[in-house]
Amino acid sequence: MYDVNLPKSHSPVFPERCVRCGANSESYSLRIWTHSIGWWTVLGVFGRGFKVRVPACRGCGLRIRVQRVGELIAIFTITILVMFFVGPFLDEVVPRALRRWVAVGLVVVCMSPWFFWENFFPPYIGMTAYSKSVDYEFRDFDYASDFAELNSDAEWVKIE
Ligand SMILES: [Zn+2]
Repeated sequence: MYDVNLPKSHSPVFPERCVRCGANSESYSLRIWTHSIGWWTVLGVFGRGFKVRVPACRGCGLRIRVQRVGELIAIFTITILVMFFVGPFLDEVVPRALRRWVAVGLVVVCMSPWFFWENFFPPYIGMTAYSKSVDYEFRDFDYASDFAELNSDAEWVKIE
């Protein structure tokens, strides 16, 4: 993944082509929320929502959305299953103060095949919001560098 970090206040300008297949994206765009929900959700930490419109043709937009929604469903399902089946057992053997952390650990372990998968098949577009900045993550290097160039008026841009 190629990350471009921009200040949160900067509204990002995307290259005018589909983020997934590179086709001219006419006028269709995909609204994407940051990954403010993830495995850390079980800690009760909800990041502030942050959304941008990303150019994508219709088919690609749908695929990206399905992947992202599927991701969330997988995380929630696994979290609920862990809580439901392992929770009562945890109550007996784990001290109260540690229970939350043990639960987080279990969810992360259950999710690890998916993390592994994502490492080899990274999503085409991802975002991570921090308190003052946002990381825009791209699978495609050319797309990432064009994006960085279009936003070079922002205070600090870097590609990692
Ligand atoms: Zn496309």
